Amino acid sequence: LKVQNIAKSYFSTVRFFGEKQEVKAVRNISFEVFESETLGLVGESGCGKSTLGRVIIQLEKATKGSIFYKGKEITGLKRKELRSLRKDIQLIFQDPYSSLHPRKVIGEALMEPMEVHNIGNSKKERKEKATTLLARVGLDASYFYRYPHELSGGQRQRIGIARTIAMEPKLVICDESVSALDISVQAQVLNLLNELKEDFGFTYIFISHDLAVVKYMADQLLVMNDGAIEEIGDADEIYANPVKEYTKKLIEAIPK
Ligand code: ADP
Ligand code: MG
Repeated sequence: LKVQNIAKSYFSTVRFFGEKQEVKAVRNISFEVFESETLGLVGESGCGKSTLGRVIIQLEKATKGSIFYKGKEITGLKRKELRSLRKDIQLIFQDPYSSLHPRKVIGEALMEPMEVHNIGNSKKERKEKATTLLARVGLDASYFYRYPHELSGGQRQRIGIARTIAMEPKLVICDESVSALDISVQAQVLNLLNELKEDFGFTYIFISHDLAVVKYMADQLLVMNDGAIEEIGDADEIYANPVKEYTKKLIEAIPK
């Protein structure tokens, strides 16, 4: 994935002296992520991480710049052309609870997106696949018939992950995927994500406001501040020798 000079602004509907106010959520960001690599995206809340994620996945249009996936420009693709990309690039949110229907069992939640993307030839096949997916994320087959409210936060995130890998994506964007979980559960889910990466050869963009979490996952680190790149490079190197004050503060904020 190649991100080239991407900027995204939001314009408020309120006018000040006849002008709409501009919020520059992302300012001129460029980077590349290579296959099977994890790029960690870190920065304080509100610095533009989620906006960048949404622009990459084409949920929102960039104000400026281009994005290339496997050498092909994806900015400006038509809706129809976006279909296969929507399968290849998946987003895992902070809390999958909001995307799970309260009155549908977990099994249905897993089978639904498979049906949409023509994965599996029959209901029976999709059901088998759903059970395999449950096992793959560490949940036994009985979870197929459970409802979202019967699950813990960590278990719900496992379901979110199972739904994502059902799509057989190539690039997975994790946006604060463990931020709502207790520390011990965070570690379990991060380890699961790393295992899946090995098994399926995923490429990750791993977004978090928490540098400790991002450092654990990332090969390459992008430190973002106020919509722009503060520092980018090898994750261990930046962590050992941060150049910018902003990065130093993020490191100091990590509890020892
Ligand atoms: P982060 O994910 O790093 O916390 P966001 O990308 O959510 O940051 O937000 C970056 C900035 O863009 C913030 O100032 C936020 O208020 C603003 N913003 C995000 N989404 C919208 C939107 N849909 N409309 C207007 N402003 C937005
Ligand atoms: Mg965010």
